[in-house]
Amino acid sequence: MRILVTGAAGFLGVNLCQRLLDDDHEVIGMDNFVSGNSENLSRLSGHPKFTFIRHDVSDYIFVPGKLDGVMHFASPASPNPSSPFGYPNLPIQTMKAGALGTHNTLGVALANDARYMLASTSEIYGDPLEHPQKESYWGHVDPISERSVYDEAKRFAEALTMAYHRFHGVNTCIVRIFNTYGPHMQVDDGRAVPNFITQALKGEAITIYGDGEQTRSFCYVDDLIEGIVTLMYSEEHYPINIGNPEETTIKQFAEVINKLIDNGSSLEFLPDSRGPGDPQQRKPDISRAQDLLGWSPKVPLEEGLQNTIDYFTEQLNIK
Ligand code: NAD
Ligand code: UDP
Repeated sequence: MRILVTGAAGFLGVNLCQRLLDDDHEVIGMDNFVSGNSENLSRLSGHPKFTFIRHDVSDYIFVPGKLDGVMHFASPASPNPSSPFGYPNLPIQTMKAGALGTHNTLGVALANDARYMLASTSEIYGDPLEHPQKESYWGHVDPISERSVYDEAKRFAEALTMAYHRFHGVNTCIVRIFNTYGPHMQVDDGRAVPNFITQALKGEAITIYGDGEQTRSFCYVDDLIEGIVTLMYSEEHYPINIGNPEETTIKQFAEVINKLIDNGSSLEFLPDSRGPGDPQQRKPDISRAQDLLGWSPKVPLEEGLQNTIDYFTEQLNIK
């Protein structure tokens, strides 16, 4: 297939493009580097089946030649206001990537009669009142909080994707991605995994927002990408959760990283600057992915974290 991947310079984009190239597809990556890193692309550039277009997906998209697939991953994704490219600092760009970017990429899929994937998120469930989260749950989202620029853009994007499927017959699918970590995450994007690993590698205090009793379920990137391509190659149209259902409190998670790195860091509990919207619990119900795609995550947490620590060690030049 000949596939357009937006957000190609980002964490998931780079891992996804690499996997598609390994599967022998031709890949056109697109990014405007608002939260991604041009160095990330060095892994892909030079591959005979990879080309790159620097472009903002919020503007009209033109890709020469026929496409068989469009995968829309472009969006700022870190909720941390202390990172310059966290979405609270890019509120309008985030809404435009989810709204206009989704509209433009759906238009490309329609014009090409291509399979389309929207990268959605567990954030569409908001601070969930149902646990674990099934795809049938409608969510609990504050439409005007700082997080809303991301949550509501993704909810709009899902609605638009289903409208293109129902009204225009576009062959769409929607992946609801839960917290994922691994190589090619940006060191300074402010999410828990890069923060905790870089703090521990530098021997600094590990910053925990609030009491650390909030939960997340972390999936290793190779598992996630396997789920994503399996969904892309399938005929499913309705949203599917892809994530690892192993749930941990943030405090326990920080302790695992601290133990693996073993550099004498302490845990520092800070007031949560991210406001009341920080979801208190999150864990995917993955029975739809298991039943319809035959997919489950396989990589144990400590193994995935060790690979990620090795990557960050290299990035930070720490021996
Ligand atoms: P990332 O920030 O590393 O990558 C996103 C990429 O999109 C960046 O390279 C950025 O420059 C690019 N981008 C943003 N706006 C753009 C625009 N208008 N035009 C062109 N490019 C643009 O984030 P990520 O973790 O790789 O996330 C990728 C996608 O997966 C996002 O849509 C995100 O919402 C979704 N997602 C990720 C996670 C996760 O745990 N990583 C969880 C849920 C959903
Ligand atoms: N978190 C934290 N310290 C940090 C970064 C994040 O305690 O330095 C917490 C954050 O408050 C949230 C969880 O870790 O409860 C996961 O945050 P992340 O930014 O990775 O992603 P989210 O799941 O909130 O989108």
